[in-house]
Amino acid sequence: MKITAAEFISSYADVRKCPEPNKPEFAFIGRSNVGKSSVINMLTQTKGLAKTSAKPGKTQTINHFLINEAWYLVDLPGYGYASVSKTTREGFGQMIEDYVLKRENLSCIFILIDSRLEPQKNDLSFINWVGSQGVPMALLFTKSDKLKPNELQRNVSLFKKTLLEDWDEVPPVLITSSEKKIGRDEVLTFIEEALKV
Ligand code: GDP
Repeated sequence: MKITAAEFISSYADVRKCPEPNKPEFAFIGRSNVGKSSVINMLTQTKGLAKTSAKPGKTQTINHFLINEAWYLVDLPGYGYASVSKTTREGFGQMIEDYVLKRENLSCIFILIDSRLEPQKNDLSFINWVGSQGVPMALLFTKSDKLKPNELQRNVSLFKKTLLEDWDEVPPVLITSSEKKIGRDEVLTFIEEALKV
């Protein structure tokens, strides 16, 4: 899929204020600093569409972008960053939970995983919760350029193996590097296929 238009639509902390659910929607979520803004900017090729920053925990709203006037790309708040106060973190939890449970036009939620790390508790529990709700998801591994191919393979395999302790199958896996522009076509093809369903 070619992206010919990417337009910022809205930024709200409340799912009830999000745009009318009249187009399919693809959401991106992950722990703060996982590389989410970089992935969104790589996909849309619009630098600064999603704000990248070295300071974790800054996106506290649900941000909608309209792509090709046909589907919404959604930037969700990061989860599980320790220095965010407990109250705020619970607020994130509620907002994300409401979004995942109530957004009727949600086609797929991309859960971003830092490919350098061993499976992290909060990623696993989020994936398990989304899976238990029957919401379609895909795992998007980020920063793959930081690893040697065999290390990347090992980490992805370990992640899948860990999930298979609780599930019969694992969600689709996509490997990306925003730095090296790896995985862009794969993610856009994945979205294109989902739009056909
Ligand atoms: P967010 O908080 O999840 O939106 O993460 P950002 O996109 O702001 O990225 C967090 C940090 O990771 C920044 O310093 C980025 O430059 C860096 N980063 C993001 N993606 C990549 C990548 O693919 N490769 C490398 N090497 N660094 C990345």
